[in-house]
Amino acid sequence: MKEKTKIFALLLVFCFFFINIYAAENIEFLRSSLDDATDIERSNIFFKLASQTDSIEISERLNYCIQAKSIALKLDNSELLFDILSLESKIHKEANDIENYSISIQEYLNMCEKISSLDMENSKKQITKQIIIRNSFMIGFIIFLNIAFIIFARYRLKTVDHMKLEKANVRLEEISRKDPLTNISNRRDILEKIEYETLRFERNKKTFCLVMGDIDHFKAVNDRYGHECGDHVLRELVETIITGLRKQDIVGRWGGEEFILLLPETLINGGKVAAEKIRRKIAQKEFIYNNKIIPVTITFGVSEYSIEKDIDECIKEADTALYKGKNKGRNRVELFNPKEILIG
Ligand code: GH3
Ligand code: MG
Ligand code: MG
Repeated sequence: MKEKTKIFALLLVFCFFFINIYAAENIEFLRSSLDDATDIERSNIFFKLASQTDSIEISERLNYCIQAKSIALKLDNSELLFDILSLESKIHKEANDIENYSISIQEYLNMCEKISSLDMENSKKQITKQIIIRNSFMIGFIIFLNIAFIIFARYRLKTVDHMKLEKANVRLEEISRKDPLTNISNRRDILEKIEYETLRFERNKKTFCLVMGDIDHFKAVNDRYGHECGDHVLRELVETIITGLRKQDIVGRWGGEEFILLLPETLINGGKVAAEKIRRKIAQKEFIYNNKIIPVTITFGVSEYSIEKDIDECIKEADTALYKGKNKGRNRVELFNPKEILIG
């Protein structure tokens, strides 16, 4: 029994010896690690050294605590700071140093206050930052919307203006080609159409006729029944001419009570037939104005286009034929005779 107690005591001594060696080695290892450690690692190492209850003196542990605390403060690491302060107060308690212990509590409370104010400040800063970012985004978005709206409105205005302008131009072009009283081609338009017909002639060699018409004694109509009546007769007469023509034929107002008919793909005899048909229709038609029948007749002169002449010549020929008809007593159709001399 005595032997067993001796062996047990010996084992206890060995254990105590090895534990001490291990603890000492551990402390040495921790101390040597301090040189290469980062701030956060250093504060943790100091904390661990301060936690060594058996192997390190209380005053030294307190010193480690202070060093760990200063790093934790520098790093603003509140979690570690709390742990360090708790450990510090525990060490003071261990040392039975009541005075220091109460100071430590006071310090602990001050630290808590400082940390919470630091946290408050940080969160305030973060909230302000967030508000600034959000407001900047909102302002930016509103500016973007305004710019987009202005660009869209300007584009829309431009398009609408452009469309209106184009419509107005088309209308103007139409107006510039129409005779306002009778709504048929004016002199300029019918001349362009004749010109186009000469180009067609060059291609397909199909000739066309020009028929010049002049209302007989129209001055007398105006004088007897009034200008309004004259206008009415002009409109009615144009209607009668149009209904008597083929679809491809065109009638234009040459001026006053004179009209010119363009009959594409028509030889002079065909032109005579067409003119005669219209002349007869007009002579037979009852032009009524204010319940009065207005006697209206028209004289026509017909010419045929050919390669040897230009448009002006062809028109002059139709005019010559027309005046021949006037001289022969009016209300008739005359063809241009090449042997006749052109007037003007
Ligand atoms: P003629 O048989 O020789 O052609 O005789 P006319 O009276 O028709 O010829 P004249 O040239 O002497 O007169 C043409 C008349 O046509 C005179 C003018 O007042 C009238 N006239 C011309 N344009 C218009 C118009 O737009 N409206 C009206 N109401 N009359 C017009
Ligand atoms: Mg005339
Ligand atoms: Mg006349």
